[in-house]
Amino acid sequence: MRAVVWHGRRDVRIETVPDPVIQEPTDAVIRVTSSGLCGSDLHLYEVMAPFMAPGDVLGHEPMGIVEAVGPDITGLQVGDRVVVPFNIACGHCFMCDRGLQSQCETTQVHEHGCGAALFGYTKLYGQVPGGQAELLRVPHADYGPIKVPAGPGDDRFLFLSDGFNVDYQCSRLPHFISHRAFLYQRHIPAIGSSVRTEWTAHPATRHLCFSTVVANRPAFD
Ligand SMILES: [Zn+2]
Ligand SMILES: [Zn+2]
Repeated sequence: MRAVVWHGRRDVRIETVPDPVIQEPTDAVIRVTSSGLCGSDLHLYEVMAPFMAPGDVLGHEPMGIVEAVGPDITGLQVGDRVVVPFNIACGHCFMCDRGLQSQCETTQVHEHGCGAALFGYTKLYGQVPGGQAELLRVPHADYGPIKVPAGPGDDRFLFLSDGFNVDYQCSRLPHFISHRAFLYQRHIPAIGSSVRTEWTAHPATRHLCFSTVVANRPAFD
């Protein structure tokens, strides 16, 4: 497959790399249809280079179509359309049980004392191959991926992978203003109005995002 590959400080290339395969029973592989480019990727481009290795595949804001699933996956089927959140969480540890998926105890790299593993984001977060690629292996796919309906374009859902969730978290911190949330409200009214009405009603980000998509579906159509 083709993928965005890190080679060094300010040296990122599109190259052919081996296709990902199912490695664990709870894995899925998706064929990526859209993938965000995040401001956080700029950190990898320069200042976080010491934590990267040549050959690392970048990207943590993907969505796509399920291509293969491991034998323990019951909630996804080949052909499902999904958004993949950037955090990789197990869904059943102490932290996940309390809605703190970004601190998942199963996937975090204890050696570095950081949070849950992330796609395409340094040795500090597991050095998991990322989603700026044609195919993506999704660990713990029995928990993370969010199914979305067929029909509307990818740009209606892609932000559920990272940016939208970050804004939701920011909205819950009284001293922290999310500029991107205001942008959503100004430029994507269907999403913005839903954020305003629902972000206090749902304790978990992933639930808010999912219900936002469903609640606004007529607007997307
Ligand atoms: Zn991001
Ligand atoms: Zn967990």
